[in-house]
Amino acid sequence: MSSVPVAVVTGSNKGIGLAIVQALCKQFPGDVYLTARDPGRGQEAVAKLQGEGLHALFHQLDIDDLQSIRALRDFLKEKYGGLNVLVNNAGIAFKVHDTTPFAVQAEVTLKTNFFGTRNVCTELLPLVKPYGKVVNVSSMVSCSALRSCSQELQEKFRSDTITEDELVELMTKFVEDTKKGVHNKEGWPNTAYGVSKIGVTVLSRIQARMLNEKRKSDHILLNACCPGWVRTDMAGPKATKSPEEGAETPVYLALLPSDADGPHGQFVSDKTVRTW
Ligand code: NAP
Repeated sequence: MSSVPVAVVTGSNKGIGLAIVQALCKQFPGDVYLTARDPGRGQEAVAKLQGEGLHALFHQLDIDDLQSIRALRDFLKEKYGGLNVLVNNAGIAFKVHDTTPFAVQAEVTLKTNFFGTRNVCTELLPLVKPYGKVVNVSSMVSCSALRSCSQELQEKFRSDTITEDELVELMTKFVEDTKKGVHNKEGWPNTAYGVSKIGVTVLSRIQARMLNEKRKSDHILLNACCPGWVRTDMAGPKATKSPEEGAETPVYLALLPSDADGPHGQFVSDKTVRTW
């Protein structure tokens, strides 16, 4: 078994994920795994980095596929006995003018951004080694979507006692409410992406609390973050940041020094803790 530190970035064949891998290859003292749902696109990205003199390793990972997540888990367990850095970056967004019915957008978006990310956490968090770092890439949109929720929902999402099961129930209810055409009446905003990222931010707060309760002595730091508005296939060419600039905050959180006791359980943008 290798004692080399290991970092894993989900959805990293392009966009912000690729820029995070690029930065980690330069700064992380260990093996860096670029992962992608499509091995062809993943290997191509690894080759692109190789051309820049950067050495990333590849492993397939489709966060929508539990078998794929478990195959990565077993690989990391066997080869490294765990992992040191996990960046949950993979995500999707329908374009603003997409005509796909809202209920379908809600189901598809929540499936990857919330349920997929949660499944990766369920399988990989137990493997994170002491002094490890976990970064969940959320979005500022989670904050604006939160403010557009009913007071009752806002209170639930800001609660310091909400459980993961309760959060899953709420995310499931959102999808069901869109199918019944009652999501506005039930207090939800008109953004499936925004609700999915509320899920990611709240999940991060819950997971950090669980780490405090169950593994305090392991000193693991786990945060949600926003990369900013970044020029990728998701956000388009008008966005203000380059992928490299978008990677800055996630990489800062992934490389917090081992004597840092925070941030932990926070929502961070531009390397600054924001009020949730
Ligand atoms: P992007 O260029 O569209 O890249 C998204 C990445 O996620 C791609 O590698 C994609 O793989 C991967 N992915 C999607 N579904 C996946 C799945 N089921 N399993 C594994 N990988 C999957 O988007 P981006 O702008 O870099 O976004 C990265 C993250 O930042 C997302 O979580 C996004 O919500 C967040 N974010 C972005 C912005 C922004 O302005 N760009 C702002 C705030 C937050 P394929 O190539 O196979 O599709």
